[in-house]
Amino acid sequence: MLPFANITIIGLGLIGSSIAHAIRANMSAARITGYDQDPAVRARVLELGFCDDVTDSPGAAVTDADLVMLCVPVGAIAATAKELAEDLPESAVISDVGSSKESVLNALTDALPGARIIPAHPVAGTEHSGPDAGFATLFDGRWCILTPPDNADQADLERVKAFWEKMGANIEIMDARHHDLVLAVTSHLPHLIAYTIVGTASDLEDVTRSEVIKYSAGGFRDFTRIAASDPTMWRDVFMSNKDAVLEMLQRFSEDLTALQRAIRWDKGDELFDLFTKTRAIRRRIIEEGQDDAAPDFGRHHE
Ligand code: NAP
Repeated sequence: MLPFANITIIGLGLIGSSIAHAIRANMSAARITGYDQDPAVRARVLELGFCDDVTDSPGAAVTDADLVMLCVPVGAIAATAKELAEDLPESAVISDVGSSKESVLNALTDALPGARIIPAHPVAGTEHSGPDAGFATLFDGRWCILTPPDNADQADLERVKAFWEKMGANIEIMDARHHDLVLAVTSHLPHLIAYTIVGTASDLEDVTRSEVIKYSAGGFRDFTRIAASDPTMWRDVFMSNKDAVLEMLQRFSEDLTALQRAIRWDKGDELFDLFTKTRAIRRRIIEEGQDDAAPDFGRHHE
């Protein structure tokens, strides 16, 4: 049985279009309605054909929905929810895919009092954006974290869980605040570090930009993939998960200072012990199927 028969996706970029493709692949009887604020995106989605219907307003998109999935940047969630509030059926479950969760839960609760709110965060993505970037297998074997409010209806939660399981995801349920702390260290801080390192390299005076690009395979290149991520999305993530990011950044700065001291005072053993521990973490990620063990991150070389 389908957990939801009429699914509305608001925001048809990488994640919204991937959800539509994955619904088509795994729940083909479900009807998909889409809306995006950008008319060019709406026209492109009609060409690509992964929605049954594309509407010109968020309200028109939700009138028949039993699941509404907000796939817009986190900073746009409050305004989007307000725009569709009048047309949202009482029986519809409203969810989202935002990368930070406490601010989203507050925004949805304020904009849609009494609505059936079950926020979600599929921990899967790429550095690409827009409706052409989506693909059906994005969520396969990845984790999707659900952060229901304390008063969430258990049956609604079960339906959203069943939906993501059918999409191929593994489910974890946690409190929104805890989610934000965990993701601050596993996702938000690594993005901040990548943005910093790529920015620093591009500002250097003694090393030319063409040298940075030429010798990028020394490590820099892998940071540039993360630092190519969508600027709007990531600005919103840092603005909306400020406290947790600042807390993790403080810990990170202290650890970086300790490394700086170890290098200055020739404490090679300290570096060796740390690098041994970090190598073991990489091994566990591969053992648990969360990355590819192929050489050079599975890159194809001609
Ligand atoms: P994306 O490819 O940039 O797509 C977002 C789409 O939403 C764009 O077409 C955007 O249009 C549209 N949009 C913005 N404001 C809107 C509004 N008020 N009403 C309707 N449409 C609106 O971004 P994405 O990567 O799919 O990210 C979407 C959400 O997924 C974000 O909340 C992000 O935190 C979350 N997420 C992303 C990843 C990832 O790796 N990318 C992973 C997990 C979760 P404009 O271009 O005109 O603004």
